[in-house]
Amino acid sequence: MRLIRYFTVGMAFLLFLYLFLPTTSQAESGDTYEVSTTVLNVRSAPADGAEIVDVLTKGDTIVAFQERYGWVQTYYGGNEAWVAKHHLIPANSSVESETSASENTADTITVIANNVQVRSGPGTNHSVIASASSGDTYNTIETAGDWHKVSLANGATGWIAAWLTDAATSSNESEAAVPANHESAEKSSGSLEGYTIVLDPGHGGKDPGTIGLNNIYEKDLAMSTAETVEAQLADAGANVTMTRTDDNFIPLEKRAQISNESQADAFISLHYDSFPIQSVNGVTTYFHSNGADRHFAEEIQASLASTVNLQGRGAMQANYSVLRNNNAPSVVTELGFLTNQSDLATVQTADYQNNVAQAIENGLKNYFGE
Ligand SMILES: [Zn+2]
Repeated sequence: MRLIRYFTVGMAFLLFLYLFLPTTSQAESGDTYEVSTTVLNVRSAPADGAEIVDVLTKGDTIVAFQERYGWVQTYYGGNEAWVAKHHLIPANSSVESETSASENTADTITVIANNVQVRSGPGTNHSVIASASSGDTYNTIETAGDWHKVSLANGATGWIAAWLTDAATSSNESEAAVPANHESAEKSSGSLEGYTIVLDPGHGGKDPGTIGLNNIYEKDLAMSTAETVEAQLADAGANVTMTRTDDNFIPLEKRAQISNESQADAFISLHYDSFPIQSVNGVTTYFHSNGADRHFAEEIQASLASTVNLQGRGAMQANYSVLRNNNAPSVVTELGFLTNQSDLATVQTADYQNNVAQAIENGLKNYFGE
């Protein structure tokens, strides 16, 4: 079904990709594959002799961003990586459908007042993007605090205050959601004194990470974000360790090792995302294992989604080596798409960087506070 859709709408996109993203030729973008062999090498380039950067096992899944000469390119531990396609089988569910399955409650809500403002985020501090009238109904995608995220007629999403709908949130899962704005989040949380947090700015040195529109390098943005987060967490009393403090290449194994040697209480890898289709946007948090990792990822993602002004894509499972080899609760955050014009403009602002730092502080406090 996905393939058919891509064939029908995909040709115009492919033309744009050739024009604007010359490195992503032959994109089979976003198809998910499952590893069908016991051991599958992940290589740094699409060739049998290329460096082996990791190993996948049967049942692992990857998302393909392009294909070349029988190889499929994915991102692995935040780096571009390649696996041989003949050991892959198409997976039944894509990452996107897993996201919607986990977030989409399929509930509808009805607006019970006129001139109800639909906002870009769950709080009155977010900008108004549409308005709704009494009797309008929407499908809800998720709930955060006293706000419902809904699908709008134009395909976009927006947030509506629950108290202006027939679905007030006091009796549902809103207790588990983080508060909808900074002020209440700060009040509810304690200090980070006594906690060791390892921050991992993605990529560095010879590895630029994603090269976004306008030639923005992921490694540079990840570094400046990490510095902002470091200052914020240090202010909150945490003992912060960075896996790199300048533009150096640090192997993935070394990053997890630093976390383990620091006996970290939490590990946060900071990245920015990319996708061949420029409209794809938003913030995602990845975890490796169910349990503490997943819980930590959900706290960080909920805090990001309620604090920053980008779409929340959810917390998702991924087999990244910085997470798999980590003893601490650990996440990889993808803080917006450098291949999306709007995300790119937003993530470069000081406001955004400060909001990320605040969101991570709150997410840590919520996680440790439980
Ligand atoms: Zn990255």
